[in-house]
Amino acid sequence: MNPLLQAPQGAGGLPPFADVRAAHFAPAFEAAMAAHRAELDAIAGQTEAPSFANTAAALDRSGRQLARIEMLFHTLNASLSTPDLQAVQRDMAAPLAAHASWVAMHQGVFQRLDQLLQRIDSLGLDGEQRRLLERLHLEAVRSGARLAPQARERYAAIMQRLAELNTQFAQNVMADEAGYQLLLRSEAELAGLPDFVRAVMRQAAAERGMPDGSHLVTLSRSHIVPFLSFSARRDLREAAWRAWVGRGEQDGPTDNREIAREILTLRNEQARLHGHASFADYQLVDTMAQTKDNVQRLLKRVWDAALSATEREREAVQAAALAHGVVDRIEAWDWRFYAEKVRQARYALDEAQLKPYFPLEAMVAAVFDCAQRLFGLRFERRSDWPVYHPDVVAYEVSDADGRHRAVFLHDNFARLGKRSGAWMNALAWARSEGGEQTPIILNTNNFAKGAPGSPTLLSLDDVRTLFHEFGHGLHGMLSETRYERLSGTQVLRDFVELPSQLMEHWIADPAVMQKHARHWQTGEPIPAELIRRIKDAELFNQGYETVRYTASALVDLAIHALEEEEAPDITTFERDTLARLGAPADCGMNHRLAHFQHLFVGDSYAAGYYVYLWAEVLDCDAFEAFKEAGDLFHAPTAASLRRHILASGNSVEPGAAFRAFRGRDPQIEPMLRGRGLIPA
Ligand SMILES: [Zn+2]
Repeated sequence: MNPLLQAPQGAGGLPPFADVRAAHFAPAFEAAMAAHRAELDAIAGQTEAPSFANTAAALDRSGRQLARIEMLFHTLNASLSTPDLQAVQRDMAAPLAAHASWVAMHQGVFQRLDQLLQRIDSLGLDGEQRRLLERLHLEAVRSGARLAPQARERYAAIMQRLAELNTQFAQNVMADEAGYQLLLRSEAELAGLPDFVRAVMRQAAAERGMPDGSHLVTLSRSHIVPFLSFSARRDLREAAWRAWVGRGEQDGPTDNREIAREILTLRNEQARLHGHASFADYQLVDTMAQTKDNVQRLLKRVWDAALSATEREREAVQAAALAHGVVDRIEAWDWRFYAEKVRQARYALDEAQLKPYFPLEAMVAAVFDCAQRLFGLRFERRSDWPVYHPDVVAYEVSDADGRHRAVFLHDNFARLGKRSGAWMNALAWARSEGGEQTPIILNTNNFAKGAPGSPTLLSLDDVRTLFHEFGHGLHGMLSETRYERLSGTQVLRDFVELPSQLMEHWIADPAVMQKHARHWQTGEPIPAELIRRIKDAELFNQGYETVRYTASALVDLAIHALEEEEAPDITTFERDTLARLGAPADCGMNHRLAHFQHLFVGDSYAAGYYVYLWAEVLDCDAFEAFKEAGDLFHAPTAASLRRHILASGNSVEPGAAFRAFRGRDPQIEPMLRGRGLIPA
């Protein structure tokens, strides 16, 4: 029997990880797709006239087995990837995309939805039911259900090809990352690296079976950023930086340039089939922002302010370089290194001094404590529950009244075969209709594991990431929608980062930090004076960080706003766009197009990298509500946040959800102040 086709019977409702083999997936996908097809044909073939219950609610119940298998597959393939799973991914990308198109464009089903929508006001629906019907209809239309037969066929072919290209793009980036190794062979090559960075690099070498005492730099962000910040060897920094920004752009089998170009060309055709001039237009219609102009206006305001901030920062960074004997202009691989020198000189603050206060376990306890004080949640570690890797920790989550609320899996360490970055995903979404289901939520991070016998110490950046992903996690765990498709983080894409970014504000609070950030050896809380210096130092180099992010967001928007049928060469386009924007070469971008996985591994962040900034407007303004209440754990404000933002999923239009919480539309000023881009 195929374990993937059984209802989950393991402890906590978790999948039987130990029994699952790569070979189980293809037949399970086939069987689940067949079952889904039968469900849809049955909905369409009913003799009864369409009703909300026999059509919209029935659709929400359909395809659950397939969704469950897909969620498990994506989890394993991202976190425990093997050549066998990657082969399944390549083989199944097109059939799964074809199935998704067939489902979305099912004419019998769509006609019933369409008839229902015509008379939506006479159906006696409540708010959530109305929202479900509207979303199902809109998503079908946006997937091509209303196109003429020939156009539908072409549309499905485009979707299939895109799915293959998305998969290749991701696998190429992973291959470029796995293929790179910078081995540091001598004290001279380790120059400048503090002990905690060396420990991480020894650990990476040991994991790959290299001789004792070897130090390895990989292209994991948790290696590259510290290496660029601390290595005194300019030549090695340059080599590492070039490898990092060159991912996806190496001649040979992992080259993503033509793949990205084909994706962009197909997306333009997809948009034109819908009657839009560009993919950005098509994408943005179904967002809070709605139009390119609205996005452009926000990005431009931030871009201009950030550019002037980098001018002041550059003076300081260049002066530090000069003081260290670098007479020529600083390059992109120099900025972090000399910025770190400025930080140390100006604020007497360095990463090495901070990390002992941020052991992973204490920071996990901190985030759980915040969830308890805000929402009454309790997290109990369950070592007896199945997990897919020994590093993964399972928790049973209970509500204030003791009722089971969710299962939470925490997968924190970088390892071979795990995608870089950090993310939240679900193995099951919460719902109450059609069989109650509590959610199973994962948070994945890529922290560098401490050497055997010593704790894992996080950077401040890592701590923020931990809180960020946990915010997404809360969005999944606290969901109280009746319908599964409206549950958790399945919201509009420029709303989805609100809960995650909001959560970062709590660990930035001095009282929360003092309570939880204790030196792992002495147990001393982090000194108040050190926190003050962190706050001061935080605003330094915000121009640099903001420029890197906004450059990527502006390039994303620009390339998806093109109206030409044929996409241009991405490298040339990127260079020209950055030149037109006056982007400083010594800052670089968060992601260059050739490895920009947000854009080219699926389309949810395509013409959508701006969403972090959009959501930052929302989260900074939402956090103001707690400040105005004079208590970061103010119970009525937390209850309102839970009810209107975290529990409601996509059952309420996001603008209305925000207004219900805040009593008005969001204001931009708290975000600009938070980044130091306008005076506090
Ligand atoms: Zn996020």
